Amino acid sequence: NRRKQVSTDTFIEKILEGDITFLSKAITLIESTNSKHQEKANTILNACMPHADKSIRIGITGVPGVGKSTFIEAFGKYLTSLGKKVAVLAVDPSSSINKGSILGDKTRMEQLVTDKNAFIRPSPSGTSLGGVAQKTKESILLCEAAGFDTIIVETVGVGQSETAVHAMVDFFLLLKLSGAGDELQGIKRGIIEMADAIVINKADGDNVKNAKIAKVEFNRALHLYPPKENGWQPKVMIASALNNSGIEDIYTMISEYISTTKKSGAFENRRNDQNKHWLYTTINDQLKKRFYENPKINELLQKEIINLEKGKTTPFNAANNLLNNTD
Ligand code: GDP
Repeated sequence: NRRKQVSTDTFIEKILEGDITFLSKAITLIESTNSKHQEKANTILNACMPHADKSIRIGITGVPGVGKSTFIEAFGKYLTSLGKKVAVLAVDPSSSINKGSILGDKTRMEQLVTDKNAFIRPSPSGTSLGGVAQKTKESILLCEAAGFDTIIVETVGVGQSETAVHAMVDFFLLLKLSGAGDELQGIKRGIIEMADAIVINKADGDNVKNAKIAKVEFNRALHLYPPKENGWQPKVMIASALNNSGIEDIYTMISEYISTTKKSGAFENRRNDQNKHWLYTTINDQLKKRFYENPKINELLQKEIINLEKGKTTPFNAANNLLNNTD
């Protein structure tokens, strides 16, 4: 292979200059399963770390069709109009199956895509949510090193991906629709406890009245929960992403959250807790991976399964036997 490899130094230099092409390429390295790529990605990541951490990270979730991409486009455009640099990332574990169900579609966020102060990156694909989430978490750091001061992480309102995104953002925003019993569903699934704000979208036309009613109901529901540790009372707002209404108020609310939590120290505490979470998550994932990928374990596991089927062992004895054979 005579083609000259781009050095990691060039990568680092270009990313710190805010070069989006190199940022994209580095994220591709992060997402790669090739061990050489991963090694290179780690070197770049480590060099970028001291320049990261300076942005505001906002998570946005909601069921398909609630208006996430329309909202992110309106919100993102508003932010760039204020002179901010916005990176939009996604966590969608289903994307490997559906070939990119969110953000993969080029027709989404048409205006934001062409904005030179915006960077949009579809969800990495991967076999596990843990893998997808870790890659996104690392990509956030690269975007920050490249000078993006606002990071938006989008996720679909299904499955465990919301918990993963909640654990990587400073502010978690839940998009909802009024009516259709949608309210209760959210409460049941515990998503509402995670939300720092609920925005009832599509508050336009005939929907305005229902949206206002829903706002009162959600406010009432939120007050049933104990206050958050950081003292923040989650807010409920209405918006029309389509008509660009409510967007400015939402940004003001988020800014207020950021400044109060920064003052009280809660902002930094949350990030520290998140880092601890990722430390444990990574250890757990790696332990599991190493265990199951160990050829000795693999062989023994098959034997134990046969013993189990023959009634010669119990699941607990078999498990202990395997766990004691890892070295
Ligand atoms: P996502 O699946 O959550 O990303 O939702 P989309 O942003 O793709 O929006 C789904 C549909 O709802 C599209 O047809 C949008 O045009 C429409 N939509 C999004 N936001 C609004 C809104 O504020 N008002 C109205 N009336 N329609 C909206």
